Amino acid sequence: MTTSTRVHNFCAGPCTLPVSVLEEVRDELLDFDGTGMSIIEASHRAPAYDAVHMNALADFRSLASVPDEFSILFLQGGASLQFAQVPMNLLADGETAGYVNSGTWGKKAIGDARKVAPVYEAWTDAEGAFDRMPGTDEIEVRDGSRYLHLTSNETIGGIRFPELPSANVPLVTDMSSDFLSRPIDWDVHDLVYGGAQKNLGPAGLAVVIVRKDRLSSHGRNLTSYLDYATHDSNNSMANTPPMFAIYVMGKVLRWMHTEGGLATFEQRAAQRASILYGAIDESDGWYVCPVDEASRSHMNIVFRLPDEDLEERFVAEAADAGMVNLKGHRSVGGIRASVYNALRVDSVRMLVDFMDGFRSAHG
Ligand SMILES: *Cc1c(COP(=O)(O)O)cnc(C)c1O
Repeated sequence: MTTSTRVHNFCAGPCTLPVSVLEEVRDELLDFDGTGMSIIEASHRAPAYDAVHMNALADFRSLASVPDEFSILFLQGGASLQFAQVPMNLLADGETAGYVNSGTWGKKAIGDARKVAPVYEAWTDAEGAFDRMPGTDEIEVRDGSRYLHLTSNETIGGIRFPELPSANVPLVTDMSSDFLSRPIDWDVHDLVYGGAQKNLGPAGLAVVIVRKDRLSSHGRNLTSYLDYATHDSNNSMANTPPMFAIYVMGKVLRWMHTEGGLATFEQRAAQRASILYGAIDESDGWYVCPVDEASRSHMNIVFRLPDEDLEERFVAEAADAGMVNLKGHRSVGGIRASVYNALRVDSVRMLVDFMDGFRSAHG
């Protein structure tokens, strides 16, 4: 049996994937669609791959309701390269943009952007706790800014914007860790990006959705890979694309369609989160979530136990029971349960049962 050996994987990235997708990949690995070879051995110019690629683009567009005015790009370099590539492409010489520093990822985004353009911090957590997202009225967008950069979900801090703030400039949002788990308001965006490996597929692929009329307005002398226009005019096949990652993500997107589309995944995310936060809140303060209630992430649920020894035991005993990757990020400690799109609600119920048992044994 394939599934009986599978763990419940709460990894923050790469993510757990649907078993049905993995089984299809396995079944097709020696002979993809009668070609006598796997898709990763095929030419990226061959019809077999072309269909995979174009279907993945189309499925992404329909799942996320991406309007025609936007181009969808499949790129390499992870979300991290976008920290630089976004300002390279959206800011002309001397232009500026605001960045919300909401934690680890927001900070990295502005750090790299500063090396490209004179961008500024539009908000930071003055207390340094990074346990909440700012409200619209706290964010200071300067006149003349080309965009405001947000991180919709801070993967390490375990916080999210329940609603994105509004600004009088277009938004650019890093959605790496809540990609396609909530609707995207395209009217207010110039660009949305994310690494695929948190919610949608394997590592090696970043998806960038950019308003077409913002392409080629940077006036910079960019090398061809760094210029979005290169990828836009070639359906992201200007060079060899990350074929395997696109192929697997394509299957995940198909699976998402058959499961009911974005609304289903938004609802499942809310359900997983409410089960876990419920267990934390009903533990009489034994488990503590250090995050402001309104900013609680639906994807990365962070919590603490009474002491670090107990946290270590919790992680070890959970792993023995088949629930892995629950250790919090090394920079913050504690426990982090990442509950991405493909994680079954059953896995969350099992974790909550384990939490109850662990508290009874050690509380
Ligand atoms: C993981 C992550 C990144 C970095 O992604 P890579 O693909 O590893 O470069 C950026 N932003 C957020 C919000 C993330 O969670």
